Amino acid sequence: MQLAYRITVRLLAVGIAALAMSACAAQNSSTSSTRTDRTPPTSASATGAAPAGRPSGVRRRSTPPAVTPGELAAVTSTTATTAPAASPSSSRQHRALPIAGRTVGIDPGHNGGNFTDPSYINRLIWNGREMETCNTTGTATDAGYTEAQFNFNVASFLAADLRTQGARVVLTRHTNTGVGPCVNKRAHLIDASGAQVAIDIHADGGPPGGRGVAILEPVADGINNRIIAASERFGRMVLRQMETVAGMPPSTYDGTGGIVFRDDLAGLNLTTVPEILVESGNMRNATDAARLITPGFQRLEAHALDRAILQFLTGAP
Ligand SMILES: [Zn+2]
Repeated sequence: MQLAYRITVRLLAVGIAALAMSACAAQNSSTSSTRTDRTPPTSASATGAAPAGRPSGVRRRSTPPAVTPGELAAVTSTTATTAPAASPSSSRQHRALPIAGRTVGIDPGHNGGNFTDPSYINRLIWNGREMETCNTTGTATDAGYTEAQFNFNVASFLAADLRTQGARVVLTRHTNTGVGPCVNKRAHLIDASGAQVAIDIHADGGPPGGRGVAILEPVADGINNRIIAASERFGRMVLRQMETVAGMPPSTYDGTGGIVFRDDLAGLNLTTVPEILVESGNMRNATDAARLITPGFQRLEAHALDRAILQFLTGAP
């Protein structure tokens, strides 16, 4: 029912026949039927031109929602504990850390409270190309372990890893009990943070027979033009580290060799920071699900992502 509602609202508001699907699945039941909407972008969309059938008026860019100083402070304030201490010795130690002074954005997809407030998450926002719902619930394993929880756990482990290496970390949410924020707000928070790289952490709700990692890459749309090449480079690093460190193979069902270009997601359309979305595995596949739900794997994935970020920022092998 929820998918039908989303479709109806979307068609009314945007007036388009094509429905673009958010990353992951909005609801478990909608997953398989909506994944066929994930067609690779055409050459027209790759160059920023309006795809056929999409009214030109839809592409009118609205003013991005502003991120208030208070909101940015709220997001970054919890990273204050990572600031170097004032003593000379600790300052020297901090400077010696591999990514001291660098800023990394982490967006743990969805939120645990999204299940409770459909009116909030179904409101429409501008994603840089078209209207999209504010957020979705995300998927879950057959046993009910939610993607929102998984994303939050991996993000927390990754943030800790990055801070020990001197980085300032900007998270788009700090608990798994709230609702939202909307995907456009998440993008603007990271854009405004001064991050040098960012990662959106998700897990997929794909066909039960498929498994593995998919890297969702941005497609040039004007706003994100300057970070396309860097994001592709970063994405390949993440894919490789997910395989070698976390032992997760490239997706057997999404994209080509685990790489997918997506032009329908606010996080990738609105970013001005090199950024990818990692679908860490398929929660509807028994093999992947058994790994994804364990804290051991979640730590291992965080380590893999940390290695990729370090490689991207410093050139480390
Ligand atoms: Zn997701």
